[in-house]
Order: sequence, then structure tokens, then C-alpha cells
Amino acid sequence: MKPVQTILSEACAHWPPGTERERIQPEIWQLACHVLQWPLAKLLAQGASPADDQTVARLQELVRRRAAGEPLAYLTGETEFWSLPLWVSPAVLVPRPETEILVEQALAWIPAGTAVRVLDLGTGSGAIALALQHERPDAAIVAIDRSGAALAIARRNARRHGLPVTFLQGHWGTAIASGSVHFVVSNPPYVEEGDPVLGEAGLRHEPRQALEGGPDGLRDLRAVIAESARVLAPGGRLLVEHGNRQGAAVRALLAQAGFGDVATKRDYAGWERISAGLRHG
Ligand code: GLN
Repeated sequence: MKPVQTILSEACAHWPPGTERERIQPEIWQLACHVLQWPLAKLLAQGASPADDQTVARLQELVRRRAAGEPLAYLTGETEFWSLPLWVSPAVLVPRPETEILVEQALAWIPAGTAVRVLDLGTGSGAIALALQHERPDAAIVAIDRSGAALAIARRNARRHGLPVTFLQGHWGTAIASGSVHFVVSNPPYVEEGDPVLGEAGLRHEPRQALEGGPDGLRDLRAVIAESARVLAPGGRLLVEHGNRQGAAVRALLAQAGFGDVATKRDYAGWERISAGLRHG
């Protein structure tokens, strides 16, 4: 029996002192809350109380896996996107804060109070579709993924929040009628094949099929743009996330596919990250 606080300080010793340890400390506390099933306030108030051997062993195992690079979200099975707690597993990408910029931009265009039709291509955990549905309860949102395992997670997330998104398994928008949608949103795989980043700590544990976008990283962005040009009604808009050096290429692809009003938004780090286009009438 060891006090929880002692286990936590021992856990932090896996990381070198300094900024890295400071960055990881809150994550270790979250792992402890997960294992103990305690809210953070209880951990803060009762950290001196002892934990049983089984709890200590479980926590130490999760800390070891975190130190080996597994994302916190996979270890706790949860993350937060657009203030919605979401289930995640290694079958889906961990939703990123920068993807909230896509949601924000989409909400600037999607009117409230109408049954506007929105399509999310490659939904993964359902993050984008669920955030939009949460803000626009009247929108008819369809979210598609090729992966059945990803859709199972997305459906659980929809049930968790009572959100009526329709989930379909399929290859991009092939199941969707031409000219039938007002908005397409997508965070497709866009990392270049062979990019060393795929082998690095965070991404190594995430599904390759959700990350890798072919030799130039644009394979799936091309597919999403072509598919959107087909399914969008005149006046409809596409919003896509892309890599930090793909802005010019994506704008060119949008223009080639006949989109107008093409523009790019930067992420919190200042990189070009989200591009959008208007389907002309
Ligand atoms: N933004 C992710 C990254 O960390 C990639 C996500 C994606 O490929 N859609 O690079």
C-alpha cells in the first residue's frame, strides 16, 4: 500500500526533469483518475490516501505505456472534442484541437433552424459530425467511414450524447446522390507515405489508414474534392483539413474542380490547415 501521491511522483520520474515532465504531469494525473475512477478534485484532496496493490500495478502499467508513446486518449479510452467527451480506440484517430477550427468555420456558414444537409467524409470517431449536430440540431447530418470499427465507436459517441447523426459504411460519398448535399466536411488522411512523422511517438499508435494519404499526401484530398464537386448542390460548400504545407495544392485542386470563393484558414500554430470552396451554380 502506497499513497497515491507517491505513485504519481514515481511515475513522473519516467520523464526527464524540466518541461517534458511538466507537460506529462497532468496526463499522469488523468491516468490516476481513470484507474481510481476518481474525479480530479478527489485526487487533489485525498492524494495522501493509500491505493491497493492492484490499482498501483494498473496505474504503473498505463504510465509505462504512456512513456512508450501511446496517446493518453487510447489509455483512458476517452478524449474531448468541442467540449464533448468522446470514446476513442486505436481504430480511430484521436481528434485534434485544430480540427475544431473546421467546426468553427462550418458553423459560420451552416444556418441554424433549418434541415440543411451535411456530409462528413471519413468520420472516424464521429468528432466533426457530432460537434456540428450538437450545435445545429435541425441539420440532417450523414457521416461516412470505410472502417466498421471506426463506425462502431462513432455510433457509441452519438448514443452517448443523444445526437441523431446517420452513420454509413462506405467509400467516400459513393452512396450519396449527386447534387443532394449543402455542406461537405472532411478530415481525410493527408500525411505523405514514408513521412518519418508516421513512426514518431503519437502517430505510431494511430490507424495508418486514417493518416496516410499516398505518395504526395493528396490522394484522399483529391478524392474528397472530386466527390464533393459531385454531391454538393449549387451554392454548397466544402471544408477540408489538410497538411501544413498542402494549402497551395489544395486551393489549386479546389479551383480545378470548379470551386469558387476558395480560402484557407490557419491553425493555432499558424500553419495553413483548413481550406474551403463554394460550389458554383
Ligand atoms: N493532423 C494529423 C497529424 O498529426 C493528421 C490527421 C490526418 O491525416 N487527417 O499529422
